[in-house]
Amino acid sequence: MKDLREHTRELLEKGEIAAVIGYRQVSEMRTKPVIVTDPADAEHLVFNEYCLNNLAVYLTKARIKALCRTKDKTLKLAITAKPCDVHSIVALIQENQIHRKDIHIISFNCHGVVKDFGCEFNGDNLASKCITCETHKPLYFDKIFGEEKETPKASDQALARIQELESMTHKERFEFFKGEFDRCIKCYACRAVCPLCYCQRCITDKAIPRWIESSSHQRGNFSWNIVRAFHLSARCTGCGECERACPADIPLTLLNRRMAIEAKRSFSYVSGRSLETPTLVGSFNEKDSDELFM
Ligand code: SF4
Ligand code: SF4
Ligand code: SF4
Repeated sequence: MKDLREHTRELLEKGEIAAVIGYRQVSEMRTKPVIVTDPADAEHLVFNEYCLNNLAVYLTKARIKALCRTKDKTLKLAITAKPCDVHSIVALIQENQIHRKDIHIISFNCHGVVKDFGCEFNGDNLASKCITCETHKPLYFDKIFGEEKETPKASDQALARIQELESMTHKERFEFFKGEFDRCIKCYACRAVCPLCYCQRCITDKAIPRWIESSSHQRGNFSWNIVRAFHLSARCTGCGECERACPADIPLTLLNRRMAIEAKRSFSYVSGRSLETPTLVGSFNEKDSDELFM
């Protein structure tokens, strides 16, 4: 923690960065996102098992313009990012939303986070993405802190659920998701927390023509969740924030992860892993298979 605070204070004092997007402890088992611009406030920054939010959602063109552009130059924006959050940053760079040169990535050797605030950190309360995490070290960073530690052992219930769903008939699977989506209250928290949901005007907000019913109605709920899943396919980096934010406990991970499995299986593509690779949906390869899953 001391290293993180000293590093960010120094960068702010030297004027190398305009601000740090990071975490602040608000109670024993809860943190909240903060944007630090005053070097004296760097002492509040933390990184631990309660740093749940994916802060990449704050990396927008508008924020970089507002915080980092001065009359003469553009300063960097620093962000503290778990290795999985670095995937979101990479995806945003791949999609030309931000530039690598504008971002100072401070990351950590990560051994996992809890599934929700207020939970003890152990195998029963591990965030599901941590159970299958393949990148406890960040793929890209400018500064890294923390020692490597073991992640608590836990079973991959999400994958077991996906396999269970795949063994169902189309009708049974349709009924399952219809039942889940029925609870959607159209709060759009899933959209608000997603770093890759950055469209300035979402299709669901368009009224002429109205493609998706705005009220919390079965037909519109289904359209919203399916349209979002397709829009995020081969783009979702699996941060799990949408599911964590959903007040209706809809298992959005089942959809997102299933789409990610398919992108990997059919096109050997995993979102947000390489700055050198074009996005799957933004590139064309003659050798791509025409077979799609059913
Ligand atoms: S998925 Fe991996 S990098 Fe992300 S919080 Fe869990 S252990 Fe850390
Ligand atoms: S769709 Fe959900 S899991 Fe995927 S990047 Fe967005 S918030 Fe993260
Ligand atoms: S967060 Fe959950 S309830 Fe809210 S719009 Fe998204 S799926 Fe629906």
